[in-house]
Order: sequence, then C-alpha cells, then structure tokens
Amino acid sequence: MNLNSSWCGAEGFDLVFIETMPMGDIDGDRTSQYLPLSIVRANLERRYTLAPIADNTGGPARYTRCAETGGRVGFITPMTHNFCEACNRVRLTCTGTLYMCLGQDDAADLRTPLRASEGNELLHTAIREAIGRKPKGHDFIIDRRHQRPAVKRTMSVTGG
Ligand code: SF4
Repeated sequence: MNLNSSWCGAEGFDLVFIETMPMGDIDGDRTSQYLPLSIVRANLERRYTLAPIADNTGGPARYTRCAETGGRVGFITPMTHNFCEACNRVRLTCTGTLYMCLGQDDAADLRTPLRASEGNELLHTAIREAIGRKPKGHDFIIDRRHQRPAVKRTMSVTGG
C-alpha cells in the first residue's frame, strides 16, 4: 500500500480516509465495500511510522504524523472506533429540517415555528427540544446479516 506521500507532501495536502457507512439504499453488497481502517493503518505501518498527534480540524478525523514524509495522515473511523461520544454536531437542511445525528432518522421541523411568529421564542423552543433529543450515537452495523441501511437517506440529503 502506498501513501502517495511524495505528491501529498509536495502539495501540502493531508491524506484522510474514511470508512464507508451504511447510509441510503444502494445497489450492491456493502460488505464488499467495507474496509476497516484498522487494517489499512496496520498495512501502512509496515512501511511508514505513524505517530498520533493532537491536531484537530473540528471534524471527526484523528491525525497521525508520518515520520518518513512529514505529512499528516488522518483516519475517520465511524465503524471501528465510534467517535460519537465527543459529537456536538447537528445538521440543518435548506428546507428547515434539523437532523440531530447522521446515523439516526429522527429530525425536527424548524420551518413551521420559524414561520409561525415574528419573534424567535417558538424557534428557540423547537431548537432546545430537538437538541434534548440528540441521540448518543449511531447504530451502524455492516455485516452479512444486516444488508439494509441504518438510515434510508443518503449523505447528500443531510450534507457532510
Ligand atoms: S453518528 Fe451521530 S452522534 Fe455519531 S458522530 Fe455522527 S452525527 Fe455525531
């Protein structure tokens, strides 16, 4: 396995992988798409020295520094290392739907309270109520017994 390290290093890019997540109805067998990053990392470490670093870009990636190239290599591991315990994110769509978790179907309608009055009190109440329902995490499972997606909507509905 090759890090494409010289190109990334020369261009100043990070290298970040992400594990596939069971979102949206798709054709095909997800188990054939799923590669645990624990295996990818072990393969990389046969050739490169990856030391954990504390860098944080505000996203879910956990970073390492590659000693041989000086480049930063990030891993996003929703499956092999669930990072939900530190999550404070919600997503608001352009139609006013607030999703409290990428991995759950629950959502709150903010458009109705927004349009219901000139003031913000109804909207604030709806947001507080929605945040109170934010789940502790996803229920993603990818194996041969769980072929259906954890949530029906695709990532593009919610945004990244
Ligand atoms: S699955 Fe939900 S709780 Fe976990 S990191 Fe994503 S949005 Fe946050």
